[in-house]
Amino acid sequence: MSNKTTTQLPLISTPSPVRVSIHGLKIHNTTVKEARDSILNMLSEPRMHAVFTPNAEIVMQAVRNPELANMLNQADLLLADGAGVVLGSKLLKTPLREKVSGIDLAKALMSLNQNPKLSFYLFGGSPGVAEKAAVHLLSNYPGIRIAGYRHGYFQPEETPGIVADINSKKPDILYVCLGAPKQEQWITENSSALNCRAAIGLGGSLDVFAGVGKLAPEWMRKAGLEWLFRLIREPHRWRRMLDLPRFILLTLRVRLGLINTKK
Ligand code: UDP
Repeated sequence: MSNKTTTQLPLISTPSPVRVSIHGLKIHNTTVKEARDSILNMLSEPRMHAVFTPNAEIVMQAVRNPELANMLNQADLLLADGAGVVLGSKLLKTPLREKVSGIDLAKALMSLNQNPKLSFYLFGGSPGVAEKAAVHLLSNYPGIRIAGYRHGYFQPEETPGIVADINSKKPDILYVCLGAPKQEQWITENSSALNCRAAIGLGGSLDVFAGVGKLAPEWMRKAGLEWLFRLIREPHRWRRMLDLPRFILLTLRVRLGLINTKK
């Protein structure tokens, strides 16, 4: 599909990570570093790859919506974004090695100094945010190139134009930041039309890179309290966040053998 000159990247031998079933989602049991290397390997293959990073809220949405679960399971890399999913994996006695949040993965990719530079297209966020993120990223990660950017508020009929713009800029990696599961749906629907090697669903990461959104402080991230930070910052999310206790409850019910969600 792509006729772009392939960036010559060193092949890193990364064994395909094992998948762990968390309530029907087949999460790759990997680390940030290994996920980064898997994505590097994807860049040497002439096809689009989808990378999704579901958190416990999305796992619960997928439990209720088998179509969403199926779509997520089609990803080339499905990563556990959130302390909740990692805790769940431990309760289910199939422990995931590490939380692989989208933002940590993005930072790990952009810290690389490949020659030629890896190029990124930033898609999503309110008008002005992707541009601001591009400026911040270029000064924080001198080893990257920003091929293009675009805000994430559009009508469905604008999608072909958006895809055409992305393809004309020929990025190696596309960050799609439309919130979940909208970004996963967008990537899946446009996968065959996109001329890049990997598209990663990254939620509100552009807001963070642009300095308009905030990450939880390190001590809260370490303590698995990102959800509390989010609830304090965005209290309107409380209804959606009820999926976190629901996730733990469902996990305990599976652990106690009261229900089986493994498929
Ligand atoms: N967003 C967007 N287009 C939309 C809806 C949302 O670009 O139609 C952006 C929004 O501006 C924000 C991000 O998507 O930057 C969603 O961030 P959030 O942290 O809520 O992501 P989630 O937790 O849903 O993955």
